Amino acid sequence: MAERVIGIDLGTTNSCVAIVENGTPIVIPNRGGYKTTPSQVAITESGKRLVGHIAKRQAITNAEHTVYAAKRLIGRKWNSPPVKQAMESCSYKLIEGPHDDVRIELRGQPYSIPEISAYVLQEMKMIAEEHLGGPIEKAVVTVPAYFNDGQRQATKDAGKIAGLDVIRIINEPTAAALAYGFGKNLERKVAVYDLGGGTFDISILELGNGVFEVISTAGDTFLGGEDFDKRIIDWLVFGFAKEHHIDLRRDKMALQRLKDVAEKAKCELSSAKEAEINLPFIISKDGEALHLQRTLTREKLEELTEDLVEKTVSICRKTLAEADIEKAAIEDVILVGGMTRMPRVQAEVAKFFGMEPCKGVHPDEVVALGAGIQGAALIQTDSDMLLLDVTPHSLGIMIIGGYFHKLIPQNTTVPTTASHIFTTVKDNQTSVKILVLQGESDRAEENELLGEFILTGLRRAPKGEVEIEVQFEISADGIVSVSAKDQETGLKQAITVTATSGLTEDEIRRMVEESRDYLMDQKVNEEFEKQKQAAEKLVDEIEALFPRVEQAIAGSDFGQDAIKKARSVIERARQGIQARDAQAVVDSTEALNRTLNMFKGVVAKTRVG
Ligand code: AMP
Repeated sequence: MAERVIGIDLGTTNSCVAIVENGTPIVIPNRGGYKTTPSQVAITESGKRLVGHIAKRQAITNAEHTVYAAKRLIGRKWNSPPVKQAMESCSYKLIEGPHDDVRIELRGQPYSIPEISAYVLQEMKMIAEEHLGGPIEKAVVTVPAYFNDGQRQATKDAGKIAGLDVIRIINEPTAAALAYGFGKNLERKVAVYDLGGGTFDISILELGNGVFEVISTAGDTFLGGEDFDKRIIDWLVFGFAKEHHIDLRRDKMALQRLKDVAEKAKCELSSAKEAEINLPFIISKDGEALHLQRTLTREKLEELTEDLVEKTVSICRKTLAEADIEKAAIEDVILVGGMTRMPRVQAEVAKFFGMEPCKGVHPDEVVALGAGIQGAALIQTDSDMLLLDVTPHSLGIMIIGGYFHKLIPQNTTVPTTASHIFTTVKDNQTSVKILVLQGESDRAEENELLGEFILTGLRRAPKGEVEIEVQFEISADGIVSVSAKDQETGLKQAITVTATSGLTEDEIRRMVEESRDYLMDQKVNEEFEKQKQAAEKLVDEIEALFPRVEQAIAGSDFGQDAIKKARSVIERARQGIQARDAQAVVDSTEALNRTLNMFKGVVAKTRVG
């Protein structure tokens, strides 16, 4: 089979996989026929891993061991505000990882966030492999445009753990624009407004002659549907507390049920004006079961979430101003992400841009389709499609006085390189420490530290004499490498910035092996289940024939022997099943088949006779 690349939209709430088949990008449905799969992972009491719809379906009864919205935590540091916020509201347990990262404790076992995301990616890989009937190794995976280097790196690690070669990471809004413009030869400026389950992005692109050029991008990686749900949950919780003086958030199962109904009500209110919220037996007080019953109107939902929508609009305003683009120059607005189904969101976007958004794209599928298109273009030698993306954050180093010296400003087209010559700041300084930072503040400490390294062996000289060239490089994936070179000696130190991905190479290697082993075990288990079912079916059929065979051969010694033999074959099959011994089950299946045929023969003969 020719080499194929899948495109995966690894979403906060749902994930989606696509591929280009015979020149047409298509979304691949999962086993259940759904085009999107919940990005949820659970570990059951018996230690079984569940991913997707089956994980979501059992979330209420297994709330503490079911992970949702892991994307909000990927590449984040333990002490960061989003992690603190998540800790307050999620039903699973977050613990500190060994590298200042976050881990999730499920059934007493710590899992890194890239590992959890890897399970979702693995599921998407499997969906594609089942559809295509062969193994898939390469993928393009999308991330929010506003993801920083650490978050991108961690997403790449997740791909690796899932057994995928992630040949490119692309930005979600850019992927959406690719799918929107695919095969249309459009020449226009478009805005992509992407409000998903956990993140918000806005990108302005210029399309023309097969070139998709991002001019500007901005966003918030902690603003999405989850925040809308939380407003509804809080409204329900406060209402309930007022009436019953009980905080429902303290009960994990109640919290999970609240989360469920809040999201359902929110979605319902995109088409209806009112949603009934009904949670019988939500909690008990003094031995008495209490119920939660309320009506949420669309108006109330809009009031509860007004500032969230406004925040997205103000980010749009800011990015247009920064890129020096007039609103009137935008010719089309593309809506991406499930949250853009909310009428108020659509209305505010239309109001801001002064036009109705484009209705031609599917908000849940367009990102994966774009990733699939990019994947196909990357392996196609004659592709005339060119994607020019930008870096969403400025990059630089810390200089004397704790200031931030930018080498690559935000919204620079990637891949790119930049360099600058710095000098020593102290007499006889023999080493320099390079702190690599990402952000927009002039103060180094207010930006994100991506990594650090030391260049040693500098000549002793008065300050300002020794020159060091610092070079930055951003790959097409948006991943950063930095080097520092002593201009006199040519001595060089370099790093690929991986410090914030949260995992070491060794850990990744171990996880890759574990995940491969897990899949093998799962295959073996599935195979065993099939053999077991086949054997059990034969046993049932043989047992059903016993009375007639016994009747037919009554009195014959040979017959008694045959019956005895049949019983022992059945016994052996049962023992093999109980011991989960695949070979024994296969062997006894053959013997069962022979016995069944013999029994059928005896019964047929008596009928004839
Ligand atoms: P995505 O990350 O693009 O899959 O978006 C998922 C988010 O969209 C979740 O927060 C969903 O609750 C939300 N969503 C999906 N359908 C609707 C709808 N009909 N109305 C409002 N929000 C929706």
